[in-house]
Amino acid sequence: MGVHQWEGAHRDPGTRGCARVLLNDRMQPDVAPMPRTVALRPRDARGFPVPAITPWRDGEPMFAATSVSRTLICAVERRCSICATQLGSPPVWRVVAAEEAVAMAAALANGESYDNLAPTAEAPGHLACMLYASMVCPFLARPNARRGAGAQFGDFVAPRGAPRGELDGIGGGVAGFETYEFEVADQVMFRFAGLVALHPHRLGAEHLTELRALLADGSELDDVMNSTSPPYLGSDEDTADRRAEMYR
Ligand SMILES: [Zn+2]
Repeated sequence: MGVHQWEGAHRDPGTRGCARVLLNDRMQPDVAPMPRTVALRPRDARGFPVPAITPWRDGEPMFAATSVSRTLICAVERRCSICATQLGSPPVWRVVAAEEAVAMAAALANGESYDNLAPTAEAPGHLACMLYASMVCPFLARPNARRGAGAQFGDFVAPRGAPRGELDGIGGGVAGFETYEFEVADQVMFRFAGLVALHPHRLGAEHLTELRALLADGSELDDVMNSTSPPYLGSDEDTADRRAEMYR
C-alpha cells in the first residue's frame, strides 16, 4: 500500500475525493441551492442527487455506505467526492465535526498551523459541494451526529489561550486545506495538510447565504468548466470497480 501525495494546483487529471456523505431521507434539497455539477449527478427514485462515492445496488443508491473503489478513484484522479468533477486549484475542502472544527478555529485564531495528522475517511471536495452537503446532510452537519460514529481527532489539544468559550457554539464546519494524501487498505484514509480556511456552522444552515453567493457569481465553476463526471462514477458498480483496479 503506497502513500500518494499531490502538491500544487494542476496535476494530471488522469491521476483526485468526497466526504462520507449521506444524503438521506431527512435532506431538504429544495432549501439548499444545488451546485450545477451536483444537479448533474444520477438521482435516486425521489430525485435526490447521489454523491460520487455512494455505491449502487440493483439500481438503488446505498446512501449509508461508502464505496472504497469510488473513493479511491476520486482520490487518485483528484475528483470531488460529491460531484465527481475535478477538484481544481487548492484549497481542497472537507466537512469536519464539532471537536475538530473548534480546534481548527482556535489554531486559525491564534495564527498557528494546523495539520490533520490523524487519518480520516472523509474525502475532499469543492467548497460549494461541501457547503451543500453540510446543509442537506444532518449526519454531517449536526453537532452531535458524529459522536456515536467513532470519529477520532487524534491527540490534538487546543492551544493555550484559545478562546474556547467563543468556540463552544461551533457544531462543525467546512475546512480548506492546501494538500491531501491518502492510503488505501480496507478503506481509503486521507490526511490533510495546510489548513487555510474554516467555515464553521452550528447546524449547517448558516452556509445558505454563502452558498447562494458562491453559485450566483459562478466562481465555483472556474475549475470545473471543462470537467465532467466520468461514466465510471455513475450508477454502475462494475464499471467503478474496474476503474479502481487500475489504482490498487
Ligand atoms: Zn464538487
